[in-house]
Amino acid sequence: MANDMIISARDLSKVFRRGSEEVRAVDGISFEAGAGEMVAITGPSGSGKTTLLNMIGCLDNPTSGTLSVGGRPVFGGHRELSERELTRIRRELFGYVFQKFYLIPTLTVEENIMLPGAFYQAPGAKAARDVMKLLGIEQRYRHLPGEISGGEMQRVAIARALINGPKVILADEPTGSLDSRRADEISAILHGLTKQGITVVLVTHNLDLARSADRRLEIRDGKIHAE
Ligand code: ADP
Ligand code: MG
Repeated sequence: MANDMIISARDLSKVFRRGSEEVRAVDGISFEAGAGEMVAITGPSGSGKTTLLNMIGCLDNPTSGTLSVGGRPVFGGHRELSERELTRIRRELFGYVFQKFYLIPTLTVEENIMLPGAFYQAPGAKAARDVMKLLGIEQRYRHLPGEISGGEMQRVAIARALINGPKVILADEPTGSLDSRRADEISAILHGLTKQGITVVLVTHNLDLARSADRRLEIRDGKIHAE
């Protein structure tokens, strides 16, 4: 495994237990991503894409396998990080764009964007303003999520993922609810981030977006079907 990989996973598996039933959601996937790379994960519904993304992002513990992020071993082998160290990695290394945006309806666009920084350090309105400008939503900062379009909500979700200056953006179907023109705009924004050296790992059903990535990983039944 090359050390310069920002994410390096080997034989990751995740087994969920529901009563006596076992679901092997991710079944021995190895995965690497370098700085500034875009990797697209595709596959049918229920194939384990979200589970894989959550493990890569240190949001969920693998059942087995090893994972290093930012050159640090996180799971597996002899070393495991404490919950406190994991929390630090989550907020300093990663920016998360969840499938359903998860914007808080009673907070303004600006407040939603500042939220991940709120409990960590005061990034200040300046950082929020910078990411809003980058995403072309600076005119919307006082609006509530209910007052903006789906494309704009998606941009707010990306802006929020950028507020702490992450090295890796993990995005679960970032164009899932957008028309093709809006989807192309989000694709251009994500490619722009890679040019700044940010690694983007995304789950997508959008073929154009998947094809535009540096690498594609197709998964079926928790296994790599094609690379
Ligand atoms: P995808 O994102 O590709 O649609 P998921 O990673 O969400 O797939 O799910 C993969 C499999 O794991 C599915 O069979 C799903 O039902 C199961 N699964 C996901 N999360 C859980 C959970 N928390 N508990 C039990 N089963 C789960
Ligand atoms: Mg999913």
